[in-house]
Amino acid sequence: MPIQKTRGFILQRVDIRETSVALHVYTRDFGKIKLISKGVRSPEHRFVSAYELFALDEIVFYEKKKRDYFLLSQCELLEYFHGIRATLPRISYASYFVELLNFVTQPGEKNEALYELLRNSLTLLSGTASPKRVARIFEIKLLSILGHMPRLKSCASCGKKPENQRTRFSLVRGGVLCENCFGSDKRALPVLAGTVNFISHIESLPFDKITHIKVAKGVGLEVERLLGSFINYHLNVKLKSAEFIAKIERGLAPL
Ligand SMILES: [Zn+2]
Repeated sequence: MPIQKTRGFILQRVDIRETSVALHVYTRDFGKIKLISKGVRSPEHRFVSAYELFALDEIVFYEKKKRDYFLLSQCELLEYFHGIRATLPRISYASYFVELLNFVTQPGEKNEALYELLRNSLTLLSGTASPKRVARIFEIKLLSILGHMPRLKSCASCGKKPENQRTRFSLVRGGVLCENCFGSDKRALPVLAGTVNFISHIESLPFDKITHIKVAKGVGLEVERLLGSFINYHLNVKLKSAEFIAKIERGLAPL
């Protein structure tokens, strides 16, 4: 690969030895790439803040022979997201977005929709929107882009449209069950019509239209639990940042 230039978000940063840093970056033009940057750890170095988690950078890099890491030769900070870094909950949610994206993507698979999703979500999170709201939007859009959306409009077992609003949600079957199919998963739980509507709405609406949807408190909590367990089960993830968010929200975060 010749020398390349693109822009991307820092998904992961690992300091190696004295002066080198290994980075995972989600780029607009190449999907996720792994990079090594050498000689950058001195405090006065101009790269340092550009290497912070979820910073957006313009990067120049080239291939390193026999390794799956590329060599970073230039890195310029484009957006630091100061609005996110001002509060711990927002930092935690932004960390969750990049950790989740890092987990579900493989190097070298370009996907501009994922890049735009992260860009839009971080921009929204750096403003006044509720972090929980942004997180639910991020999760739903991510599942949709990856082709893992729960089945909501028809029964996940028989395929028919449920005749009434009495439905249950089956984690194992990956969607709602109509009344006739409750027996196909004994562990399926009742689900509110508002929850199903909210998730379907968010999936179909463009990003700039989705922050204003009103949500009842019960629906908000159910959406949060349903998406959390769905992502854990179907994407097989267990993330440090998600555990940390749960702790903060129980008021148990360490000082
Ligand atoms: Zn059915």
